[in-house]
Amino acid sequence: MEDESLDCPICLEGTVMRRAVFSNCGHSFCPSCILGFWEKQNSGNDGKRKPVSCPLCHRKVTMLIPAYAIREAATEKYGSPDEEDEKTKTMIDSYTESFRPSPELPEAKLRAVPEMIERGRDNVVILSYASRNDPFYKFLIYATIFLMALYLLSPVDLLPELQFGILGIVDDVAILLLGLWLLDSIAIRFVNNLRMRQRRE
Ligand SMILES: [Zn+2]
Ligand SMILES: [Zn+2]
Repeated sequence: MEDESLDCPICLEGTVMRRAVFSNCGHSFCPSCILGFWEKQNSGNDGKRKPVSCPLCHRKVTMLIPAYAIREAATEKYGSPDEEDEKTKTMIDSYTESFRPSPELPEAKLRAVPEMIERGRDNVVILSYASRNDPFYKFLIYATIFLMALYLLSPVDLLPELQFGILGIVDDVAILLLGLWLLDSIAIRFVNNLRMRQRRE
C-alpha cells in the first residue's frame, strides 16, 4: 500500500514523516508539504479557500489526520522528532474542521442515510486504515461485517423471501442499513479519537 511508504511523496524525505498526516484518499504526506501544496493551489484565489486535490490521485482532500502508524515507524527509524510546530499542528486540525466538520454520530433515522452514503467512499479508506492499525477497531469492523453477512446469507430469515415475496426483502434491507450505520459510526469514532489525541499531544 502506498500509504505505508515511509517517505513523503512530495518532498521525498523520510524524517518529516515523523509528523505524517493521512488523507481521506488514503495517501500520507508530511504536514508542511500538503499545507504548502494547498496554499499553492489556492494562490490567486481571494475568496474562500477550496480544499486541496491530492497531488497523487487528485481526489478532494477533506480530512488530514495524524498517521500514527507511519509516525511511529519513522520515529523508530530516525529517532524522536523535535518539538512539534504549534502553528502547523493547528493548521492541520483546522483544515479538517473546515472541510470535514465532525459529523454527529448518525441517528437511526432515514434522513441520515444520504449523508451516510456520501461518507461511504471515505469510510472505505478510513475503515481499512483503522483495521490495519488498531486491533480493537479491526475486531469491531470484522464483527459487524460478519454478522451482517451471516444474516443476509443465512437461510433463517425473519421474513423469508419464498413466503413473503418482495416483502421478504424488507428485513434484509433493514439489516444492510443497520450494518452500514454501524460501520459509519465506527469510522466517525475512529477519526474523532485520532483528532482528540492530536489535540492533547
Ligand atoms: Zn514532504
Ligand atoms: Zn490521494
